[in-house]
Amino acid sequence: MGKVLIIGCGGVASVAIHKCCQNSEVFEELCIASRTKSKCDALKEKLEGTTKTKITTAQVDADNVDELIALINEVKPDVVLNLALPYQDLTIMDACLATKTHYVDTANYEPEDTAKFEYSWQWAYRERFEKAGITALLGSGFDPGVTSVFSAYALKHEFDEINYIDILDCNGGDHGYPFATNFNPEINIREVSAKGSYWEDGHWVETEPMEIKREYNFEGVGQKDMYLLHHEEIESLALNIPGIKRIRFFMTFGQSYLTHLKCLENVGMTSIEPIMYEGKEIIPLQFLKAVLPDPSSLGPRTKGKTNIGCIFRGKKDGKDKTYYLYNICDHQECYKEVGSQAVAYTTGVPAMIGAMMVMTGKWNKPGVHNMEEFDPDPFMDALNKWGLPWREDRDPVLVD
Ligand code: NDP
Repeated sequence: MGKVLIIGCGGVASVAIHKCCQNSEVFEELCIASRTKSKCDALKEKLEGTTKTKITTAQVDADNVDELIALINEVKPDVVLNLALPYQDLTIMDACLATKTHYVDTANYEPEDTAKFEYSWQWAYRERFEKAGITALLGSGFDPGVTSVFSAYALKHEFDEINYIDILDCNGGDHGYPFATNFNPEINIREVSAKGSYWEDGHWVETEPMEIKREYNFEGVGQKDMYLLHHEEIESLALNIPGIKRIRFFMTFGQSYLTHLKCLENVGMTSIEPIMYEGKEIIPLQFLKAVLPDPSSLGPRTKGKTNIGCIFRGKKDGKDKTYYLYNICDHQECYKEVGSQAVAYTTGVPAMIGAMMVMTGKWNKPGVHNMEEFDPDPFMDALNKWGLPWREDRDPVLVD
């Protein structure tokens, strides 16, 4: 079918690349390009001989638009899949515009010097992508991503109107370290140490970090504490789900994680303000990232399951209705299949599927779009086929 250029070669990219290689009919050719080319070469070496997909590698600084344009012109991909960091979203979108190439990512743009993420920067490209006749698909991970597709599916098949969505992200995995993050530590800590917020009656309600706590009994995992966070899919779902009254996002954290995080915050290690250290300017959070375990090394040691999904409440045929759509994923099963833990797996699989949707033309609409704007059915089928089967509960316990 075609060729994909994947930018980044970290935890999430490694899974997406494995899955593209399992799906050689669609991904006939794949170029892995990242800052550290040796990582791309090592993955190519591991996968060659196990797949019909033809793999090439390249070095690129994705902060540099000219370098990206030159790379895209050389590789000539049908789709660019951005699995670098949120800081690179806009430069990669600029390069896609200049070369008229479709774009897919998993996380919305965040300026490096401000811990704040929102879609405004990327939505500002809508008209230019439309005019260029190319599609940008934003947030094709699990949350955002699958949670957005779950919302579109529930609206299409289960409800006349959805009024309440609670997104529950539970990681019941144990990696045995007192403190480690399951994806890029810098991005993860910026996200969880920020103020929380949720959408209610047409506006944002802001909370202190970790102010709102609930307990929930997750199938496959058990009872967990979860905390309300700000999360990017709330922003687009609030616009794209008609009749919505409230959207909240909860993530589970263990006590050890929270105690360590509080301590690191208290001593200034999570700050993104530069400081001078032995005559050199450093950013404490980036230094912290350097001493924490690399998330891609957690695969062999993480045991347990993730359970991520959405509880919907709304109306069908004039009656109140509740509906829970979720996926349970086992860390060790993921490791056996692709050498990664489930957090990378649950992001990398939808990233591959998003690229497939755009490449095959099933989701092809010039402009800049969020996942819930497309027909959810082919994506839901692909989740079942490619390793993230979903489950339904028509009588779930609700979150108060
Ligand atoms: P990693 O840190 O493991 O990987 C990032 C990769 O990007 C690394 O290979 C890194 O290179 C490369 N990179 C960073 N900067 C540049 C640059 N300037 N030029 C070229 N390459 C660069 O991150 P993860 O794999 O954990 O996360 C990837 C993305 O997935 C993030 O945007 C994250 O927010 C998102 N994500 C989304 C989720 C969802 O459900 N939607 C969930 C989890 C993550 P190097 O190897 O040299 O460091």
